[in-house]
Amino acid sequence: MRQFILYLSILFCGCQAPTTLELNPKFRPIEKIVQTPNDPFLTSDSVITTKLNECYVRNLGAFLSDTPEGSPEFEAVLLHEKSHALRHLELGFDNFQKYYNTDLHFRWAEESAGWKIQIECLLSKGVKIDEVWIANFLANNPAYHSMVEYTYALEWVGQIVRNYSKPK
Ligand SMILES: [Zn+2]
Repeated sequence: MRQFILYLSILFCGCQAPTTLELNPKFRPIEKIVQTPNDPFLTSDSVITTKLNECYVRNLGAFLSDTPEGSPEFEAVLLHEKSHALRHLELGFDNFQKYYNTDLHFRWAEESAGWKIQIECLLSKGVKIDEVWIANFLANNPAYHSMVEYTYALEWVGQIVRNYSKPK
C-alpha cells in the first residue's frame, strides 16, 4: 500500500508542469517568474508583468516555449522587467502603480526605458529587430493605455536601431 501511494505521488508530481522558475542572480531584484493563470492583466501567454521581486505570466510552460530560458529574447525581456523592478524599489510599488496608471508621460518614460534596454540587448546578440511589430505593440497594447502614437513609436524604435548600428 505504501509503495502504491509512493508510486501514485511520483506519477502525480511527474504530470505537474512547473509553475515557478527561479532566475539567475543577474536579473535581481527579480528572483522568479510565477505562473498566475487568473491575472486579468495577462491577456496572452506571451505577456509578462512584474511586481518588485517577481514576474508573472499566465502560463509558464507556454511562455518558456515562446521565450526559452537563455535565449536572447528571454534575456532581453527580463532585463526590461528588471528596469521596472528597480523603479518599484526606488519609488515604492504603490507610488509606481499610481503614476503608471494616471500619468501618460511617466508611463512612456518607464516603458521607453525598458524597451530601449530590451531592443539594445537583442541588437547586441545579433537579433533582427521587427520595428513595425514593436511600434504596433507600443501603440496598441491595451495595458499601455494609448501612451504613444504608432508613427511616433516607429520613428523612436528606428532611431534606437540606427543609433546602435552607428560605429562608435
Ligand atoms: Zn515594460
